[in-house]
Amino acid sequence: MNRTIVVTSGKGGVGKTTVTANLGSALAQLGKKVALVDADFGLRNLDLLLGLEQRVVYTALDVLAGECSLEKALVKDKRQPNLVLLPAAQNRTKEAIDPGQMKDLVEGLTKSYDYILIDSPAGIEMGFRNAIAPAREAIIVTTPEMAAVRDADRVVGLLETEDIKSIRLIVNRVRPEMIQLNQMISVEDILDLLVVPLVGIVPDDERIIISTNKGEPLVLDEQSSLPAMAFNNIARRLEGENVPFLDLMAAHDTLLTRIRRRLFGN
Ligand code: ADP
Ligand code: MG
Repeated sequence: MNRTIVVTSGKGGVGKTTVTANLGSALAQLGKKVALVDADFGLRNLDLLLGLEQRVVYTALDVLAGECSLEKALVKDKRQPNLVLLPAAQNRTKEAIDPGQMKDLVEGLTKSYDYILIDSPAGIEMGFRNAIAPAREAIIVTTPEMAAVRDADRVVGLLETEDIKSIRLIVNRVRPEMIQLNQMISVEDILDLLVVPLVGIVPDDERIIISTNKGEPLVLDEQSSLPAMAFNNIARRLEGENVPFLDLMAAHDTLLTRIRRRLFGN
């Protein structure tokens, strides 16, 4: 049984593309065959995060226009043989494609891939409609900010009217030190507001920004880091494993203790 999962949010800039690239890589590392579909026409950047931008020749639009086969448009990942990308066309409006065409494209992938992850554009307009059309499952990404949580809530409402059987939540860019100081909404509070089951908590971590700029998903080369563990854990939860959530608060406290020890020697 293959799984088609849309990664969406409502608000832009909360980490959808980051989640798609890292979760896809983590699933591929577990031995799953993974296709990542960039549904963000116009602002494509999944290829950049994966470091594949130089190798994009054809895009989904060329496939739809009959100019090349789906197989030919897929870009194989350099480091991860189980991972491919279906690129979106750049500089095109989101209206360049419709939900029926998106379904056809994804249908063509279902035979060969265990997981198809669709990276959605921001907003709830046409691009969002296209991204959710083929999906049977959704992962909603939010950050611990009221604006992002509110937009996520709207998206939950929209997804509930679609043919999507499972909606799960990733809280991204969590900063335990700010939560402790009551400067950031806690994950518990977000779960109270959204009533969507949690599938992952990802810390705010500069290594993610560095890996984005290098075009190397963090899970592929910083395996032991906290954010890489977070993505690997999400992959295992999708596979049905019961993996406890990272205790970022405890990790933060341990770090504080270590710093105190170093400074004050106790
Ligand atoms: P979206 O696809 O939702 O617009 P992106 O995945 O492009 O969001 O992320 C937006 C920015 O936030 C990028 O610069 C990315 O590196 C950064 N970012 C995402 N997640 C994290 C994180 N957990 N820690 C630090 N930076 C992050
Ligand atoms: Mg994006």
